[in-house]
Amino acid sequence: MRIVLMGPPGAGKGTQAAAISGSLGIPHISTGEIFRKNVGEGTELGKEAQKYMEKGEYVPDSVTNAMVKDRLAQPDAANGFLLDGYPRTAEQVQELNTMLAETGLKLDKCVEITADTDEVVQRLLKRAELEGRPDDTEEVIRRRMEVYAEQTAPLTAMYAEQGILVQVDGMGGVEEVTERLLAALR
Ligand code: ADP
Repeated sequence: MRIVLMGPPGAGKGTQAAAISGSLGIPHISTGEIFRKNVGEGTELGKEAQKYMEKGEYVPDSVTNAMVKDRLAQPDAANGFLLDGYPRTAEQVQELNTMLAETGLKLDKCVEITADTDEVVQRLLKRAELEGRPDDTEEVIRRRMEVYAEQTAPLTAMYAEQGILVQVDGMGGVEEVTERLLAALR
């Protein structure tokens, strides 16, 4: 299965993606995680990405698209993948379609995890205390939510037109939400 997971920051994409990919036996590819790893290692890609991430802005499409193209070309992604945090812009949607079309493939599903704004801000502030992610300050969280609402939330309409969008309520316990997601994917 080739799946795209969308949802606002704090909706639980990372946690749920790990559970779903394990259950379906497909690799979990998180652009945010790849960026954070590169920031941690101080690579050129990390230095570039960090400038945007610390402000809650999106890393430029050219950088992100090239990185995803590379990752999807690896052998473990040949039979399916779960993309978490990509695509997030109209240009990324286009680019992903092109990448897949080159190999005669297409997406099976776009899953959007929906969440209440106040609830996710609270979750992220809590995560800030536990994990100390530098982009989890209240100001940066608000900006990430805005950017998501402006640039990413409207993209689900394209997947709805293709008939592959499913929306799943992300409120409630972790396992409860995982069950909902797996049911929606079956
Ligand atoms: P969240 O969804 O909670 O904001 P992520 O870990 O998915 O967290 O992403 C963290 C940051 O990484 C984003 O705010 C953005 O700066 C960058 N990023 C991740 N994925 C993309 C993408 N597809 N396009 C541009 N920037 C991205």
